[in-house]
Amino acid sequence: MGSGFRPRAVHELSIAQSILDTVLEQADKHGAVRVLRIHLRIGQLTAVVQEALDMAFEVLTRDTIAAHARITVERVPWRVRCSRCEHEYSVQNDLPTCSRCGHLGGETLGGRELQIVEMDIE
Ligand SMILES: [Zn+2]
Repeated sequence: MGSGFRPRAVHELSIAQSILDTVLEQADKHGAVRVLRIHLRIGQLTAVVQEALDMAFEVLTRDTIAAHARITVERVPWRVRCSRCEHEYSVQNDLPTCSRCGHLGGETLGGRELQIVEMDIE
């Protein structure tokens, strides 16, 4: 572990690896020779950094049929239902503060997504 070690990138690396495993398994099942595009849905709570994810994919897809595949990402905000007034809102600044009554806290409705929505293969 040299000076280039960044814990953040490790997070994205393991996520990219599990996504890639699924992608390659599906591609194989469909007899694909190449993966052109992978479309992902990623929630705010996963704390995935786009640049780190792109970099991880670039490294991991080398020598696979997914090399040079385009990664497109749909970001999902952290959605919360206020536990006091039941208002539903997207969280700003990483703190679930109700945008209507100012109450802190509630039920998380969305933002944990980490899914492959679709992929283009040939
Ligand atoms: Zn509220």
